[in-house]
Amino acid sequence: MTSFQQTELWEVTRQLIAFNTVSALSNLEAAHYLAGYLDECGFTTHVLTNTIKGVQKASVVAWAGPESADGLIVSGHTDIVPFDGQPGWQSDPLVLKSDGQRLYGRGVTDMKVFLAQMLLTAKHLPLAQLKRPLVYIFTYDEEVASQGSGNLVQVLPQLFKTIPLPKIALIGEPSGFEVFPAHKGFAAFDIVVHGKGGHSSLPDRGLNAIANMGHIIQMLQEVNADMQLHISPINRDLFPENPASAFNLGVIHGGLAANMIAETCRLTVSLRIAPGDDAESLVARLGERIEREVAQPMRAISVDCDARIEECVIAPPLSSPQEAPFGKMLSQIIGTPLDRGAPFATDGGHFQKLGIYSYVCGPGLLGEAHQPNESIPIDHCVLGLERLEQIVHAWCIDGWTA
Ligand SMILES: [Zn+2]
Repeated sequence: MTSFQQTELWEVTRQLIAFNTVSALSNLEAAHYLAGYLDECGFTTHVLTNTIKGVQKASVVAWAGPESADGLIVSGHTDIVPFDGQPGWQSDPLVLKSDGQRLYGRGVTDMKVFLAQMLLTAKHLPLAQLKRPLVYIFTYDEEVASQGSGNLVQVLPQLFKTIPLPKIALIGEPSGFEVFPAHKGFAAFDIVVHGKGGHSSLPDRGLNAIANMGHIIQMLQEVNADMQLHISPINRDLFPENPASAFNLGVIHGGLAANMIAETCRLTVSLRIAPGDDAESLVARLGERIEREVAQPMRAISVDCDARIEECVIAPPLSSPQEAPFGKMLSQIIGTPLDRGAPFATDGGHFQKLGIYSYVCGPGLLGEAHQPNESIPIDHCVLGLERLEQIVHAWCIDGWTA
């Protein structure tokens, strides 16, 4: 047994890893564990449940400290990406393992070690000394375009009706301790084309769904080219390599055989949305163009034909001020500048709808997330806890000001 395996951080991480919180499954047990732990630490806790596609999911919101307006939210997601059928695992993904240098298990990097650090920070915190409120938020379905936080922001104002909701948040996604004040958003949806099938020797009797999808693909490429021409200076700084929003053609299925007119075609598209662009209106405008330029001409030939967007999920982009006191404090404590956007989306995009500005900084390297044998350096576990305690102390107990 290594010395790290005798720490509370190991024990809490071990318990969190053992909950199978793959996004498609229920996270209720994990949510009750988190809420129970924080209850015992003296936090006021709420477990907010939702039923998603028949599965019970829960967010946990917990707070401590005075009822003042300048508090801090610390947030992480409870769900993990799937491991069943992922080749390359050399140990049980739900059993925390250590080789003395690293911890192994699904979710150690993304992002259960951070959740464990949150719990231990709460346990060690002298609540009576809090000058500013500390609010913990644990979400579900972050890995599904942040749908859990999308639901949560609809009820948070009600929950914080009588006490002020903090306007800044720290989200501990694996950033290798870089501090990101911004990230692009993410959206995913299907485009479905229903044509009219038939024998390929009688092309005049059919309406080819793949050919019509071809028009839509052309359209998406035009929109991408147009977005390249309208890049804001701030996005050029935040995302120097890929500053523009862009649609990606992800998966396509259509047709049955070489000698048949394809009756249906389905294209799965994703969209990376730069701050300042609005995913909902981008997708809505695309839907209008598909209706006008593809669906209506198809229906004019055969009334049953159609082309439309289905099953759209959106995680909005994040853009927090780099000069705000909390951002400056983070940058100072962590010792890194604050001038780049993260290459991934977080729950912070939804939080921003409530005027909460998030900063992304956490232990673990992004490249380790979602991999078989997901692992995190033990150094990051130890250092991350120290830094989180330092951040919470500086903001909530010392009352850090610019
Ligand atoms: Zn994550």
